[in-house]
Amino acid sequence: MRISVARFSLISHFFRVSLYAAWMLAVGAAAYAQESSTQATQSLQSTHATRITIAAVGDLMCHESEFLVARQKDGGYNFESFFAAIAPLLSQADVAIGNLETVMAGAKARFTGYPAFNTPDEYATALKNAGFDVLTTANNHSFDRGFAGVVRTLDILDTLAMPHTGTSRSLIERSKPLMLDIKGIKLGILAYAYGLNQKHAPAKYRTVVNVIDTSAILLDIAEMEALPPTQKPDKIIVCLHWGDEYQLEPNSTQKKLAIWLFERGVDIILGSHPHVVQTVERKYVTRKSGDSADCVVIYSMGNFISGQRPIPRETGVIVWLDFEKNATTNAVSIGATAFTPTYIHKTRVDGKSSFVVLPVPDALKECEANPDYLPQPVKERLGDALKEITRQFATPNKTFKLYQPVQSEHPR
Ligand SMILES: [Zn+2]
Repeated sequence: MRISVARFSLISHFFRVSLYAAWMLAVGAAAYAQESSTQATQSLQSTHATRITIAAVGDLMCHESEFLVARQKDGGYNFESFFAAIAPLLSQADVAIGNLETVMAGAKARFTGYPAFNTPDEYATALKNAGFDVLTTANNHSFDRGFAGVVRTLDILDTLAMPHTGTSRSLIERSKPLMLDIKGIKLGILAYAYGLNQKHAPAKYRTVVNVIDTSAILLDIAEMEALPPTQKPDKIIVCLHWGDEYQLEPNSTQKKLAIWLFERGVDIILGSHPHVVQTVERKYVTRKSGDSADCVVIYSMGNFISGQRPIPRETGVIVWLDFEKNATTNAVSIGATAFTPTYIHKTRVDGKSSFVVLPVPDALKECEANPDYLPQPVKERLGDALKEITRQFATPNKTFKLYQPVQSEHPR
């Protein structure tokens, strides 16, 4: 997918940076700014269709068990086989988005898994090749290798032409929201984390990692809504790294924040961090403005790739969200919503240990046709995952359906 770029005007941009500087001073962190090469508005190559499909997944992690099996004889790393079984499905989306819950601080800083991640650059390349188009980077591991780790990770993503949001190299970069224009449908994407694992991180981390701070979020939403009509997003997506780890139900803080955001203009919330799948809601919400809006929250999408065991940490979900633009009114609405349960299968590929992300419905179908496709205990786990995630996605009005893959090649 080719990505072209548009910039905001310089004057309004200085205004935005000064608002952020004021916010930073208000939260007591050191405000500083440096020139950034990252673009705020990204236009994804489009055709003339008026319906687009977004695929979203949860946490993209790289534990030691993962990079050890990806290590090659020549000392390099290759993660491509992790995603070989899922890439054809992901490629059916116009845009695939996930949460990169690690940093790439370079080989000199020694590669590590939990508790302070540092992942080989080849991991990002494999994500790109798997079909990911956008990565969020705000999470409790964003600052695992300090400011240098944040900067180098964003540099690597820029080298891959992978748009990102959630961490920034400067206040100027922080002030530029990520905007996607896909076939004429404009999406604003924001990302925030509840905090960091490092209890004693310097206060300036709040300039580089977006934290869940309602004043900052309000400023970001207001900034998007103040854009001229040609740039203003049709829908605002907020990616939140929140909730309690390994809990199958969202907590009351998540539920309250979801409503608070919907009332203030957010349309979609994509959740990550619990490492298990949590439930979804799709409902009409009355905004502070008085308008009624169709809003969707996925509280947690689980692990998409991770070394964490056992089930349910081995499972995740791809969420499919359609957006439709009315040809007469140009109004954009949320269309069909669907899900695909996924399973992180630890197996052998070409005689070597590997992790393989499997689409659960397809893998179960394959097992019916070929009983030796997976060992019996794995088949049982896939069956359990399908049942459990279907339960989590069973909204009262059944708005989320099991995704039916497009049979013909998608004209991406
Ligand atoms: Zn996390």
